[in-house]
Amino acid sequence: MQNPFETEERQAFRETIRRYVETEITPNIDEWDEAGDFPWRIHEELGAMGFFGFGVSDAHGGLGFDDAFMRAAASEEMARAGGTGVWAGVGGRGISIGPLEHFASEEIRDRVLEDVVLGRKGSCLAITEPGGGSDVASLKTTAVRDGDEYVVNGSKTFITGGMKGDYFVVGARTGGPGLTGISLFFVEYGTPGFTRTPLERKMGWWSSDQATLYFDNCRVPAGNLMGEENTGFIAIMENFNFERLSLAAGALGMMKTCLEESIAWAQERVTFGKPLIKHQVIRHKIADMSAKVDQIEAYLNVVCWQINEGDMPVAEISKLKFSATKALEFCASEAMQILGGAGYLRGNPVERIYREVKVFAIGGGSEEIMRDLSVRQMGL
Ligand SMILES: Cc1cc2nc3c(=O)[nH]c(=O)nc-3n(C[C@H](O)[C@H](O)[C@H](O)COP(=O)(O)OP(=O)(O)OC[C@H]3O[C@@H](n4cnc5c(N)ncnc54)[C@H](O)[C@@H]3O)c2cc1C
Repeated sequence: MQNPFETEERQAFRETIRRYVETEITPNIDEWDEAGDFPWRIHEELGAMGFFGFGVSDAHGGLGFDDAFMRAAASEEMARAGGTGVWAGVGGRGISIGPLEHFASEEIRDRVLEDVVLGRKGSCLAITEPGGGSDVASLKTTAVRDGDEYVVNGSKTFITGGMKGDYFVVGARTGGPGLTGISLFFVEYGTPGFTRTPLERKMGWWSSDQATLYFDNCRVPAGNLMGEENTGFIAIMENFNFERLSLAAGALGMMKTCLEESIAWAQERVTFGKPLIKHQVIRHKIADMSAKVDQIEAYLNVVCWQINEGDMPVAEISKLKFSATKALEFCASEAMQILGGAGYLRGNPVERIYREVKVFAIGGGSEEIMRDLSVRQMGL
């Protein structure tokens, strides 16, 4: 569908990421999925292309500008191959960069940000706890001030990139209960009292690593507090906006692959004496999938335009996110039906995408929480 906001720069950036995905990622995706890992050089190569640089100053290795369309295009193109473990592996780094750029001390930013933005060091965002992820305001990990340090105790789980990460942005309670008692901290792996174990055998995101983190009297310098004490909840919520935009764009990328794979198969496969594409039921499935791709793409483009205009449309981002994951669920299911048994086999893009549907519907704010948030934004 035509994008009225397209520019030559955006087109060129998308093409660069697309070519990279086609040559470096898609041919290897099944092997990496089965191995449960992908090479570290992918972080560095994407870093060199500016993939992580949006909204980061050039002094810290960033692009020195931001563009919601380019952010979305990067996510969409990366997700086209399905098997979005690679997408998640680089995305886990991506969601930690905003807080580092905006809230870390100058000393920390100068020391670590360039390595993170260029993909040399691993960095993660650690908010979710074993006790729950949706209700961020109730998180239980504590950070208690003791002289020139904070003492962190508690646990985080599902942390993407957590087994390989060097740097962690950690949400912890520094004040009373609820959303006004939360702060963000920069915690380095290797700090005494900080350990981790892997989460294995997941439904999707096979090639990315997720970890459970344990903080047992883990002492960090007071200067590792990010932003003002007890203002972490707002920082977490603001950061969610770009994560959700990226998840919606990733869902769109996979929907497009589902549509393309369905059309290609329906033209080739013959049943009852004619190609599948000539059966009306299949034609209607294609029409429905194509309409959903157009709807999500148009919605995404308007939200990107709003963000570039200086607005952060929380309600629209929430609605976009659950609309995109629902549409992805529909497209993945219909594509699987059109491909029949062929789509069910490992190695097929539709099979890869089908197993990624649920994590997009849960991660970064579940469909239920997104609906709730969008209605709250209506003042209800
Ligand atoms: C593979 C993977 C990678 C992840 N990576 C990261 C990461 O890097 N960093 C990080 O911090 N987190 C990460 N997460 C965590 C993710 O953000 C949480 O799983 C998500 O926020 C939901 O939290 P939960 O799983 O604890 O579910 P819960 O909060 O326990 O909710 C369970 C279910 O109940 C629903 N629910 C909850 N409250 C309500 C309500 N009020 N009304 C109606 N329904 C409700 C939810 O929608 C959900 O369906 C990851 C998760 C996965 C699966």
